[in-house]
Amino acid sequence: MANSRSKAFDEVLNRVPQHMKTPDRRVSEYFGENTFHLDKMRECLTEDAYKIVRSAVENGTTVDRTHADQIATAMKDWAISKGATHYTHWFQPLTGATAEKHDGFFKPIGPGKAIERFEGDLLIQQEPDASSFPNGGIRNTFEARGYTAWDPTSPAFVIGQTLCIPTVFIAYTGEALDYKMPLLKALDLVEDAAKDICQYFDKNVTNVGATLGWEQEYFLVDTALYNARPDLVMTGRAVFGHAPAKGQQLDDHYFGSIPERATAFMREFEYESHLLGIPVTTRHNEVAPNQFECAPMFEEVNIANDHNLLLMDVMEKVARKHNFRVLLHEKPFAGINGSGKHNNWSMGTNTGVNLLQPGKNPKSNMQFLTFFVNTIKAIHDNADLLRAAIASASNDHRLGANEAPPAIISVFIGTQLSKMLDDLEKSIKAGKMTPEAKTELKLSIGKIPQLLLDNTDRNRTSPFAFTGNKFEFRAVGSTANCAHAMTVLNTIVANQLIDFKKNVDSQIKQGEKKDEAILKELQVLIKESKKIRFEGNGYGDEWVKEAEKRGLSNLKDTPRALDVWSKKETKNLFNNHGILSNVEMEARHEIELENYILKIQIEARVIGDLSKNHILPAAIEYQNVLIENVEGLMSVLGAKEGKAAAKTQINFIKSISKHVNEMNDKVNIMIDERKKANNIEDSRKKAYAYCDKVKSLFDEIRYHADKLEIMVDDEMWPLPKLRELLFTK
Ligand code: ADP
Ligand code: MG
Repeated sequence: MANSRSKAFDEVLNRVPQHMKTPDRRVSEYFGENTFHLDKMRECLTEDAYKIVRSAVENGTTVDRTHADQIATAMKDWAISKGATHYTHWFQPLTGATAEKHDGFFKPIGPGKAIERFEGDLLIQQEPDASSFPNGGIRNTFEARGYTAWDPTSPAFVIGQTLCIPTVFIAYTGEALDYKMPLLKALDLVEDAAKDICQYFDKNVTNVGATLGWEQEYFLVDTALYNARPDLVMTGRAVFGHAPAKGQQLDDHYFGSIPERATAFMREFEYESHLLGIPVTTRHNEVAPNQFECAPMFEEVNIANDHNLLLMDVMEKVARKHNFRVLLHEKPFAGINGSGKHNNWSMGTNTGVNLLQPGKNPKSNMQFLTFFVNTIKAIHDNADLLRAAIASASNDHRLGANEAPPAIISVFIGTQLSKMLDDLEKSIKAGKMTPEAKTELKLSIGKIPQLLLDNTDRNRTSPFAFTGNKFEFRAVGSTANCAHAMTVLNTIVANQLIDFKKNVDSQIKQGEKKDEAILKELQVLIKESKKIRFEGNGYGDEWVKEAEKRGLSNLKDTPRALDVWSKKETKNLFNNHGILSNVEMEARHEIELENYILKIQIEARVIGDLSKNHILPAAIEYQNVLIENVEGLMSVLGAKEGKAAAKTQINFIKSISKHVNEMNDKVNIMIDERKKANNIEDSRKKAYAYCDKVKSLFDEIRYHADKLEIMVDDEMWPLPKLRELLFTK
């Protein structure tokens, strides 16, 4: 029987193997070749224009029109030499994806005549007709429009035949409509705050940059099989599918040799990434079958984030050439590992020091401790905000699902550093420190680097872990734009650092010595943030109980996690530092609720369609075969003997009926609940309804579908099964 599943398999079997020609040049020869980076600009700009653009990149100064014209012309000529015919402002609307609108370089200048033109004003600012991007009510389509503005700190690049210019996206009324704008503000804030703190330790620090090294996990699925799964096509995840006999229990995929087809894909997408200056260096298999990971060398946060968005795009494009589809969804397959995007984060100085790397002497270690402890305190005070920053309908499937960091935010620092902080907490008594106590403290602070060498027991279950020279935020979803998590993280750390400096300075003013003032303030922070530190198994049920006792939040779903955006403390925090205004926060909250509702609504529809149009008909068809068989046996053997002979078939028939009826009932209830939810006006209430009344039925419906899958004749089953999606190489 040729159902869509068997057709898909025919296609897979007829595949011509893809072979990627290895580029005959070394990576160093073509790395960044398709980007208009500073060195390139030096070659083609006047010294004046180069200085101006360099200062814009390094110090955030503005570029005047005359020089912008020169830069635009040079950029255009370079892009045309790379084969570009069009240009676009490339931006990050709150849909989560990136957006572009292509315009041609050519301009008609009379009958039958045209020239290629691109001027400074087109480089600096544009007005995309982007009225249908989410704006949370900020930008009424009829009143104000949005515009995009060049971000010179992120190099323009050519992809295919288009010059892409990284930009921010802002409403004419001034509000940010994207993820990049608040990120840039948060980075400015944290970098200034960190620089001020560095002055306690080293006056040569004039510049601090926050750094991000993401790790991108993903699945590869054959295109033909993907196309035969409407749920993958529409939602990015398999809403049905019985767990395969073999999942990931043997751990034989993890770090195993990468299958040939996947390697060919990786080689090509790495090549494309390198042309774009994305420093991808690592690739390996992940825990689940057909799951992989890639990671770059870390970069300054804004660039790293642009590169991650670009990489996700490149991956999808290249995968199609190899007859693969990339699944970036956080939990495409129930029962096996999902995908995350670990955000490794730290800060570095112009003097070449990583502020989260223990140094060689007590003084640099004091600096390390200061940033280390302040970060922990920031997480402690703002755990709910951090949780909200990673909330999405798709990440809800993964957080706390036994292999991913739980929805409870906690910080892992390792036994050695825990002991260090505990000692520090106890060692400083009220009043002045004795010289002996001071020496002892300095000695123990001086010991940190050696201690860290032994600190190899990295706890993979923690959502926020210190890994020797950086923190690793592991709860970020694989589909996410890191900018959101990074905006929150950098803002809360900046806020904490500013607070810290205020307190230390005030103690110094009152006559306290600098070192002692710092240590005492750190001691306070260690005490106050103790409950966020957790070294145990974050996946265990005991942790859920323990966390509750400690008073830590466990916000299991997106609508509840997002509530923190309407809290007064949140508004004050982002408002006071000029990162997001009240209007922007309300808009973001609204948009995220809306995104959540739409995602769950689509999943619910797909579940309904697949149930009624694919699974129930297949089950009934098979039941008919069984009925025919029973009738046949009874007519050949006589009613009594025939019935006895058909015992198994009759049980199957009954069982199928039971699942078919229950499944159909549940689907009808779900459709009913969806209709009710759709009538709710208030987005927050609507999202709660979708979460509690609609989504809550997904697993129950799935239960019956998956039972039917293992009962119905394999030949008749209409959808590629998980074992096929996961083990077809
Ligand atoms: P893992 O064991 O989690 O794979 P790795 O040591 O391989 O950890 O590093 C993972 C990521 O951390 C890489 O992307 C790397 O660039 C990044 N990373 C390393 N140092 C820093 C830093 N100082 N700031 C930000 N990211 C960093
Ligand atoms: Mg990692």
